[in-house]
Amino acid sequence: MVDNVGSESLSFTESVNHMADRAFEVLNIDPGVAAAIKACTATLEVHFPVNINGKIEVFTGWRSVHSSHRLPAKGGIRYATIVDQDEVEALAALMTYKCAIVDVPFGGSKGGLLIDPTKYSREDMQKITRRFARELIRKGFLSPATNVPAPDMGTGEREMAWIADTYKHLHPEDVNYSGCVTGKPVAHGGLRGRAEATGRGVVYVLREFFRNPDCVADTGFKGGLGGKRVVIQGLGNVGFHASKLLQEEDECLITGIIEKDGALVKEDGLDIQHIHDYIVEHKTILGYPDASHVSDGKSLLAMDCDILIPAAIEGQITADNAGAIKANLIVEAANGPVTFEADEILRQRGVTILPDAYVNAGGVTVSYFEWVRNLAHIRFGRMERRYDEMRGSHMLSALKSMTQQPIPEWIEKELVQGANELDLVRSGLDDTMRLSFQQIKAVLDSNDRVNDYRTASYVVAIDKISRSYLDIGVY
Ligand code: GLU
Repeated sequence: MVDNVGSESLSFTESVNHMADRAFEVLNIDPGVAAAIKACTATLEVHFPVNINGKIEVFTGWRSVHSSHRLPAKGGIRYATIVDQDEVEALAALMTYKCAIVDVPFGGSKGGLLIDPTKYSREDMQKITRRFARELIRKGFLSPATNVPAPDMGTGEREMAWIADTYKHLHPEDVNYSGCVTGKPVAHGGLRGRAEATGRGVVYVLREFFRNPDCVADTGFKGGLGGKRVVIQGLGNVGFHASKLLQEEDECLITGIIEKDGALVKEDGLDIQHIHDYIVEHKTILGYPDASHVSDGKSLLAMDCDILIPAAIEGQITADNAGAIKANLIVEAANGPVTFEADEILRQRGVTILPDAYVNAGGVTVSYFEWVRNLAHIRFGRMERRYDEMRGSHMLSALKSMTQQPIPEWIEKELVQGANELDLVRSGLDDTMRLSFQQIKAVLDSNDRVNDYRTASYVVAIDKISRSYLDIGVY
């Protein structure tokens, strides 16, 4: 397991609150309203017994609702040995800001179960997950209308399917039962493109950043994204999809990968799919043949590169190693990888940071699409796809007869093809990440008191949230 927060004096929640405070100050928000926004609304802690091979084990889990100005409150459930109340509350707060930044109309929530999932069989994990879900449902912390979990570290489609099924059995009268959780398997109400969404969203952020020459120049870069040397920490779901896309579609060189059992380095670029297949087969990067191996993986955070993408856990770049970071640009694919203290050091050093609450919001964005699809009870594109194809082919015939010219094959194909669900999901995700970047950039460009992307992102979020609080009123 990678070290958690380390020698920092602030807790994870304090670190998030300090970052948000910069934006409250810029926006001159009334201290009472600021306190109301920062406070975590409720945290449920549960302890429940499960019979594991004839022995009773008691598990501890949490679900925090940071905000409910919009419902449902949304956020993943994490299974890990580092989970505690502070972590869950900090992550729930990040969900509030994240949803506001990308205009996803949800409050912020997060859950966690203290467990090492690798130590239990599939059957045991199912028993534990179903029991945890029952606790959350019975106590009003899980339903399509109020609180909707999703995958996070240590959980995936499998756990989400068990949770959805548990809810369905307890509430068969709820016609919207499948919207009680997102990130489900496609065959059980899940959405094509959800699994890749967070990683793909990270890449859409980078592409948008490089479409803006002033942002690129401010960061000290020349040229486009192609050829940039990238180091990634964590080849889990987010890190894998982000690095694979960057390598295969954007021609980046992934020169380093940091995992829990060391790091892999290759100056002319690692083969992400190959490494991923190796990890799936061997459960480790040890012995991977086509790269050099560094045993102190974390030291590679300070490797010479252009872009550093921490995609593992919180508290990885701290006051201890912030001074050694060589990347010009840090892209926070994980939640909270840079502590408040490290953030201050990196800001002074002029390192550009694209912050977590914006960068990794692709996951919750596509979760929103999945929830909407569940409530609509119909696949996106089902009504219009063939109609669009018919119009496309009429247009093509008209074009051909008017120009009497041959039309290139790829244009013909594009014109007559209606969008399928995956096309629509990716297009909606791209649009969301681009629009949010423009909102953040507009704050940076127009406000002299804001000179970093994190504060600008928080300004975007808090401006929307505080308006919503004021509109509703506080009683
Ligand atoms: N766990 C993811 C996150 O931290 C996804 C949350 C969701 O889809 O609700 O953003």
